[in-house]
Amino acid sequence: MNVVYISTGIVLLLWFSGNLYRKHKNRNKVIYIDKDECTGCGRCIKRCTRRVLEMVENNAKIHAAVKCPDKCTACGDCLPKCKFNALKLIERK
Ligand code: SF4
Ligand code: SF4
Repeated sequence: MNVVYISTGIVLLLWFSGNLYRKHKNRNKVIYIDKDECTGCGRCIKRCTRRVLEMVENNAKIHAAVKCPDKCTACGDCLPKCKFNALKLIERK
């Protein structure tokens, strides 16, 4: 039983320190959306738990947009959800 507790503790510790490392590494970055590549599928919006992204309509084209850049932690969770190469992390201005 102790092995289970120790293994779970190690996994949680690795997960927690990995998150801290990612946040520290990306603190000067923010998400960017290439409107020309975005198809408006909405997968990135569903993935972002911080509600940074929103869907907008522009010249009859629907695409994702960055609604609250200040809330973006640059965690990168939304990146693998985009199959169209429309998302990237850029330096925060
Ligand atoms: S990088 Fe993270 S916080 Fe920023 S938009 Fe993507 S999922 Fe949200
Ligand atoms: S996942 Fe990619 S294509 Fe889909 S809405 Fe987000 S940025 Fe656009």
